[in-house]
This record gives sequence, C-alpha cells and structure tokens, in this order.
Amino acid sequence: MEQTLIIFKPSAIERAIVGSVLSRFERKGLTITAMKMMQLSEELLRQHYAHLVDRPFFPLILKSMTASPVIVMVLRGLDAIAVVRAMTGATNGRKAEPGTIRGDYAVSGQENIIHASSSPEDAEVEIKRFFSPDEIFDRTPVLTPFTYSADEIDMTLNQNPKP
Ligand code: ADP
Repeated sequence: MEQTLIIFKPSAIERAIVGSVLSRFERKGLTITAMKMMQLSEELLRQHYAHLVDRPFFPLILKSMTASPVIVMVLRGLDAIAVVRAMTGATNGRKAEPGTIRGDYAVSGQENIIHASSSPEDAEVEIKRFFSPDEIFDRTPVLTPFTYSADEIDMTLNQNPKP
C-alpha cells in the first residue's frame, strides 16, 4: 500500500477544523500511520517548497506556514497519494470543486487547509523529511477485510490480511 504525507496548515489549526478534515480521511478508509504537532522552520519550508522559493509569493508561504504549529500526518491506503489529492482539490480554494476539502473549507490560494503529497516520489521524500522510521506505525486495522476486497489486499478466506 502507498503512504502519503499530509500537513494540517495553520489555516486548519487556527480555524479549529482539523477534526472535521481528519474525519473525512478516516471515513474514506485511510489509515493513520503517523501523526505529530510541530512548529515549521524557514529552513524546513525552503526544502519542502523548494519548487516555489523563487516565486514572488514565497514570503507569504513562509509567513502563513509559520503562523502557528502544524500537524503532520502519514496516511496509508491503496493509491493513497492520488486518493488524498483528489479529496484535497485544486490549490486555490475559490477554484476547488465543492465536495473537496479545499472546495468546502477554503476561499484562499494560500490559506488552503492542508498540504498533500503530489506523487509517489514526493511522498517518499516528504515522509522522510518529517518522520523518522520509528515514528511510523506499520499497523493493519482489524476492519481491513471490510475496507478492501480480498484481491485488492492479497488476502484469501481464513488468512490474515497482508496489505
Ligand atoms: P499544492 O499545495 O496544491 O500542491 P503547490 O505545490 O503549487 O500546490 O503550492 C504549494 C503551496 O504554495 C499552496 O498550497 C499554497 O499554499 C501556496 N501557493 C501556491 N501558489 C500560490 C499563489 N499563486 N499564491 C499564493 N500562494 C500560493
């Protein structure tokens, strides 16, 4: 199964909607494998948003992402990276489709509630950036056989799930 990195940005923390957004991921069937609160540094943000450091709005990103602590999280599931990106919606909350997280909770391009890894390559690097291996829990929820079909998780009757 894939793992993807989520950051609950200060816009989620300060507006107190972390629970509502996290509840969507849990209801969808994604599994939390790591989670912690932390204050982001400029150095870490320059790594995380390296593709944007030369853009005129980068100082805005720094100000916004350091305005409060954030919650970082790893979610696991089949195709978790694409599933979470689809749930997240377009970058600008005003353009994001209703029904997506940004479409339902954001009206801003910057204050857009969460970050979610955009590709398997990014997810691998981002998870390592925020978590050490001992902070990630290799857990298989007991309801997994009711979340995925046997062929999807390589499980046959009377066998334990092997995600
Ligand atoms: P996404 O978060 O959807 O993957 P990007 O990687 O392009 O999008 O941008 C990272 C973050 O930088 C966005 O989530 C947003 O907070 C900020 N950002 C991107 N583009 C703009 C912009 N034009 N104006 C202000 N902030 C922006």
